[in-house]
Amino acid sequence: MVQRGIDSALDLLSNETRFEIIAALASQRFSGGDTSGMTFTELFEAVSRDDSGNFNYHLKRLLDRLVTKTGERYRLSHGGVQLFSLLQATTYAPGYQEVIPLDLSCPLCEQEVVGTYREGYFDIGCDGHLLLETYVHPTWIESLSTDEFLRRAGILLHHQIEKIASGFCPLCNGSVGFTLQTDDDPYPIQYHYPCKQCGTELQLHPPQTVFHCVEIGQFYRNQRVELRETPPWELYETFGEMTMVNEDRAHVRFDLTVDGDTAVVTVDGQGNVLSLEER
Ligand SMILES: [Zn+2]
Ligand SMILES: [Zn+2]
Repeated sequence: MVQRGIDSALDLLSNETRFEIIAALASQRFSGGDTSGMTFTELFEAVSRDDSGNFNYHLKRLLDRLVTKTGERYRLSHGGVQLFSLLQATTYAPGYQEVIPLDLSCPLCEQEVVGTYREGYFDIGCDGHLLLETYVHPTWIESLSTDEFLRRAGILLHHQIEKIASGFCPLCNGSVGFTLQTDDDPYPIQYHYPCKQCGTELQLHPPQTVFHCVEIGQFYRNQRVELRETPPWELYETFGEMTMVNEDRAHVRFDLTVDGDTAVVTVDGQGNVLSLEER
């Protein structure tokens, strides 16, 4: 069922006329932010075909899939906008790299931590340890200031962490599995979430699984730290030692320390706080 759906979606793009129709609607929308759509005549002229019967046939095939029609105007459907945005995300400049200093030291080895943008990926880590990694839209590195780029990367990572802890893959929206790994290098205790749909092996550090919980947000807020506005890479310094409480149930306990105040938190790896005790 899914495979047939993918085949027919790819088939929609395999014809030159259909591809040009999508490209014309996408260029109106993505270059000028114009959502008004195009009439049949405007679209026909933009695609510059001489056979309107053939053009009409291909336009009809796109309707209700990648193109919608309201009144007399055609525009990209929600799926069409997403598809084009994803295609745009693959247009990164090959080999281009930008290193952003983060004024942070590695929680594992104390070396300097930097953010590195490369071919659509943004990695955060020191020379030897990767702390966080996310896919960012290539237009960000070209069009945003460094501060705004980092702000958005922080928000994106918070969203991705919350999705994983809530049981679905930030890349493909498929369901994820769950295991506790106790032999990970360099972290001895780490939660793994293999995606059942795209196969990506997603991982979270135990404290990250509860960033979205109200009581955790409140603990940070009491120390005047707004969790959701603090990039995930700046929160590592608040994480203390992890201990296994119940290996079968994957329960892990750790300290959170902010401004000298400590909370002892127990989590289950599936986005739940089992206990929180302030010391
Ligand atoms: Zn390191
Ligand atoms: Zn996936």
